[in-house]
Amino acid sequence: MFENIIYAGSGIGRAAHLRRDAAGLAKLAGESKALLAPMWKGSNLVLTGPEPRAVLLPAAGLREAMAASAETVFLGLKGKAPVFASDLTPLSDDEGGPSLGPGTAFVNLREMGPLLPPAEAALLAQAKGLLHWHRTARFCGQCGAPTISEQGGHQRRCAKSGCETVVFPRTDPAVIMLVIDENRGRALLGRAPRFPAGMYATLAGFVEPGETLEEAVIREVHEETGITADRAIYVGSQPWPFPASLMLAFFARARSFDIVRDAHELEDVRWFTRQEVLDFESQGMFLPRSDSIAYQLIKRWLDEG
Ligand SMILES: [Zn+2]
Repeated sequence: MFENIIYAGSGIGRAAHLRRDAAGLAKLAGESKALLAPMWKGSNLVLTGPEPRAVLLPAAGLREAMAASAETVFLGLKGKAPVFASDLTPLSDDEGGPSLGPGTAFVNLREMGPLLPPAEAALLAQAKGLLHWHRTARFCGQCGAPTISEQGGHQRRCAKSGCETVVFPRTDPAVIMLVIDENRGRALLGRAPRFPAGMYATLAGFVEPGETLEEAVIREVHEETGITADRAIYVGSQPWPFPASLMLAFFARARSFDIVRDAHELEDVRWFTRQEVLDFESQGMFLPRSDSIAYQLIKRWLDEG
């Protein structure tokens, strides 16, 4: 487990038992205490300013908007208040989307997330991840017919009689790992070409069908750096709905030390001692954002020194 992991800990009770009853959910959405997290073109609604906040609006005032939405999903219960999220993309083609109140704007959660109270960032992440999946699962992968949302937006079913294939919200597992040279007190950090200049981080990659998380860690390390690693130890995870990942963090032990860099994946990769990492700033280098799981892994290693 890590502390300070954003996009986790929304405090929403997902109340899966309520998803089965479509009429009951419609009734819940009509209650005066029902809340709505609006989205538009993949962006979440926030109250902007130096201390931005997530915006949950009374659903009662947005019935027409919800009816015209691309999709409305049930996120769960916040205390006793049912919380829904709607994709309001069809309501407006204007730049910035529909106007839903003074000081509010639709923003990119990836940029705004670290500025929000953590529980609110997590709620918006849940809305973003689920509604993104709906936008990409509108047609059946088996027969091409349209699909229909069920279970409060937690599954879709093919509408074609005889097919009726059911699909579920998708999460793509990705491993992120800090490879340690225990004898020399060094760790392997690299930079992908897309990183901001000067930033060094842990290695990462997607899990492939038919492999364990531990196998994915060892394979990715070898592919990207030529290093042989073993003993991948799971540390914690972070939802990463950009668009649909779950980051699973590991420490791995290096068994070989000569780097053979994959130039497609990495612009640079090196062994660093703890002192070298602590001196990053003087070299014009830096670590990922403090709320990222990559930083938390590196921090834990630094603290153990
Ligand atoms: Zn089908």
